[in-house]
Amino acid sequence: MAFQRADRLNALPPYLFLEIDRKKRAALAAGVDVIDLGVGDPDKPTPGFVVEAMQRAVADPANHRYPFDTGVPEFRRQTAAWFAQRFGVELDWQTELITIIGSKEGLGHLPLAVLNPGDCALVPQPGYPVYSAATLFAGGMPFIMDLREERNWLPDLDAIPADIRRKARLMYLNYPNNPTAAVAPREFFEKAVAFARENDILIAQDAAYSELYYGRRPMSILQIPGAKDVAIEFHSLSKTFNMTGWRLGFAVGNADALAALAKVKSNLDSGQFNSIQWAGVEAYRGIDRIEVRAMQDLYAERRDILVEGLQKIGCRVRRPEATFYVWGACPKGYDSMTFAARVLEEAAVVLIPGVGFGRAGEGYFRAALTTDADRIREAVARLAKLTF
Ligand code: PMP
Repeated sequence: MAFQRADRLNALPPYLFLEIDRKKRAALAAGVDVIDLGVGDPDKPTPGFVVEAMQRAVADPANHRYPFDTGVPEFRRQTAAWFAQRFGVELDWQTELITIIGSKEGLGHLPLAVLNPGDCALVPQPGYPVYSAATLFAGGMPFIMDLREERNWLPDLDAIPADIRRKARLMYLNYPNNPTAAVAPREFFEKAVAFARENDILIAQDAAYSELYYGRRPMSILQIPGAKDVAIEFHSLSKTFNMTGWRLGFAVGNADALAALAKVKSNLDSGQFNSIQWAGVEAYRGIDRIEVRAMQDLYAERRDILVEGLQKIGCRVRRPEATFYVWGACPKGYDSMTFAARVLEEAAVVLIPGVGFGRAGEGYFRAALTTDADRIREAVARLAKLTF
């Protein structure tokens, strides 16, 4: 049978990492010692006390049944309590907080809940590809907000044309940002909330990296007065607790928007395994434990090695204040694909070309800090031998 793919899959942008992927696989197959700074996936295990909580929960038959619809009450109470303590924002855990299957799931299902075909979603780029893919899947039109270095990687909301403002129902934001590692200042969130209110747009702020910071603590958009009228925010246990494989997060903020998202979810998934949510309860209870906090020091050490190494070879790169990414400018005369390809071929180091995150990422590259310090040192030493 000739199998036909749906048009919505063909509408997705081309996968730009293909060439780098191919080169990486070829090098690995040839036995080359490749240092992969491409993927952002924590290399350290989930803290033991969270794993033990999971082991206890999984042995309890009460958890073997379908999950609670919008999340285990104790998980929602515990995360709401953490939210109040961390951000000073009180949430009604029953209406202003739902469990999601990792933040990707919530971010990805949201357009089905709030966009009609033809509606616009404002999507920042360079950025996490899910925002535009999910918009397209829902029949919406992504309007790309280019992020630029000279604006500290914040979108220029004043530059959004009037006809787009009229058609836009949703705006994605992501701070701390992947891939640029930018952190949004309060004034930007204030401006975004005012913009959303003026134009009847729902803000979906992706805070997956909110706990991976090295200095100033990133804020929540819900700290802005009135934000709950126009915004929801997505949180994740993936990076905070090295739990990418577990698939657990939560969404907070506007109750109507969350109810709409919950309605989509109830028709498509049945929630996350209760045992995983019970492990999540323990994770947030223990968020100040030494083993959780130690991760920040670990990434900070790796960050310093990489940033200093890149600066020495002449790359323009800023020391990130948050996330486990280093975002740098390619050396003069290189576009991001050519630079990443050369680094892979001649130094066996994988970097992600910035253009893969959208056209405004051209001229930049991303390196992840999820590889140990010695390997990063080795990567830097290899790069130092190349001349650009
Ligand atoms: N948002 C951003 C910006 C990300 O980079 C990622 C994962 N790389 C996610 C969301 C999704 O994380 P998760 O689904 O594991 O919570």
